Parts: sequence; structure tokens; C-alpha cells
Amino acid sequence: MKYIFGPVFSRRLGFSLGVDLVPYKVCSMDCLYCEVGPTTEKTLERAEYVPLEGVKRELSLFLDSSPEIDYITFSGYGEPTLFSRLGELISYLKENYPSYKIALLTNASLLERNDVLNDVREVDVVLPSLDAATQEVFERLNRPVEGLKVESIVRGIERLLKETDCSVWVETLFVKGVNDSPEEIEKIGEIIHALSPHKWQLNTVVRPPAYGVEGLSFEELHRIAEKVGYPATEIVASSKARKRKFPFFQLKEEVYGIVVRRPCPVEEIADALGVLTEEVEKAVEELKREGKVEEVVYGGEPYVKGISS
Ligand code: SF4
Repeated sequence: MKYIFGPVFSRRLGFSLGVDLVPYKVCSMDCLYCEVGPTTEKTLERAEYVPLEGVKRELSLFLDSSPEIDYITFSGYGEPTLFSRLGELISYLKENYPSYKIALLTNASLLERNDVLNDVREVDVVLPSLDAATQEVFERLNRPVEGLKVESIVRGIERLLKETDCSVWVETLFVKGVNDSPEEIEKIGEIIHALSPHKWQLNTVVRPPAYGVEGLSFEELHRIAEKVGYPATEIVASSKARKRKFPFFQLKEEVYGIVVRRPCPVEEIADALGVLTEEVEKAVEELKREGKVEEVVYGGEPYVKGISS
């Protein structure tokens, strides 16, 4: 498959099938923290970067077997709204596979435009990024295409909230020494309160970034959440920033709930739940003894597979 990947498990979206609508690495920004790598083509030009028919073919091959997934997610290598036939693709999915929910991860750089807003109307959950409140920090952190203003990002998210029925989960990713000053946090907080999204999700650098930057600790993110005091706030940073503690019986249930739907490597489960790998290993051992999971090898890698009761 060239354009779809996964399903992968994430704490925000559960199991989602990823769809790549732009090739490596076309984006309107070149964020310091990007997990994909440095942007090679920085643009705001919409185009059919990948063939719509090819994407539809791969999606129908996968979806015709009615797999159990939580979302079809447009994400991947760059900014998905740069794909000029996004609206057609979403309509195709809604007409042919109406039971599947669609999620869109976006840097919000094009949301202010009428054509883009119309394209994303039928998306169930839009997850736009808003990492800065001031142009200075926006340029330092997100390194946008020339001329792109942070006000345009805010207006795009505002239009999305006011003019569509999409659920909007705004993500702010904090980078040490870049957007975590008290002044910037206060301004970001003001914007979040004014926008009033369905969720405000706090994240930080947890995977190797495109450029050498560092994340915040879970405690620091927690302090930011407290300071801003927005009611629908979630801290979504995964294991490296946050180590959660589950009672053992609950951890076993969580692990089983994941692997009964799709086999996963231990590290992926730990990352998804935000717990230590060793804790997952213990839970898996116990589940094996109870006959609820087994280990299978795929592509030379061990996976934990749930046994349905
Ligand atoms: S907007 Fe997303 S894909 Fe583009 S550079 Fe930033 S993190 Fe990477």
C-alpha cells in the first residue's frame, strides 16, 4: 500500500487507519519538533500531490473487509489540506463507507480559505495545531511559509468552530525554551478561552524531532494546564513525558482491550497507554497465563495478540 498505513493505535484516536495525501515532505511549515523530518517543499499551493483514484482504490481494498477501526485519519508526511481533492475523497468515504468516522490532523494554515473549509465540513474530528500566540514564536517554532500569519491560523480554527459541525480538538505542542514562557502561555490561553474548542490537548516532544529541541515534563504540562484553566483540557503527551500508574487489574484490561482488536508490539502498547514497557510486559505475562493473549511473530517482530472469548 502506498497511500494508507496502519491501523496504528494512539491515545487520542484509538485505532486509526492513516492516509497520506502529500508525499515526503510537502508542508506549509517546517516545525522544529516535526517527527517526519525537515520540510523539503514549503508551500501553500494546493494540488493533487497523490492520485485520488489510487488513494480511493487502496481505501476500498482495505475497508471492503469491514475492519474494526475507530477513525480514518488524514495525517502522514505533511499537511493533508494541501491535497486539492480532499473534499471529493471525504465525500467518497461518507457515501461508500458511512459507518467510519474521519479525523483530520492539520496545522490549520489553510483553514481560513473557503474551499478548504468546505472540503472538511464532513470530517468528524478536526485536530488543528496552535503552538504559538505571537508571530515571533510562530516563526521560530513552526517556521511557516513566507507571509503566513499566526492570526490566519487562529481565524481558520475560529471559522471551523463557527461554521461547521466538526468536533474541534486544538493541540498545542510545547517545546522547551521556545513557546513555554509565561507570557506566551498566557496569550495562548487567552486565545484558547476565546475560541472555546471542544478539547484543548497539550503535547510535547516525545519522538526524535526534525531539529534538536527538547520537550517539557508531564509536571510542566500539568502546570500549564492549571494556569490556563480551560475546562476541556487533556494532556496527551505519551510515555516519555508521562508515566501513568494503573492498578494492575486495570492495566491488564487496558492491554487486553487493545490487543484483542489488533496485535501490537509491547512498546506500542506502552506508548499508547503512557506506561512503562516493563509494566506492560508483566501484564502480558499474566494474560498469557490466563490464556487471554498469545505471542505471534510478524516480519521478525514479536506481537501480542488477544484471544477473543
Ligand atoms: S505542520 Fe506537521 S507535518 Fe508540517 S512540519 Fe509541522 S509537524 Fe511536520
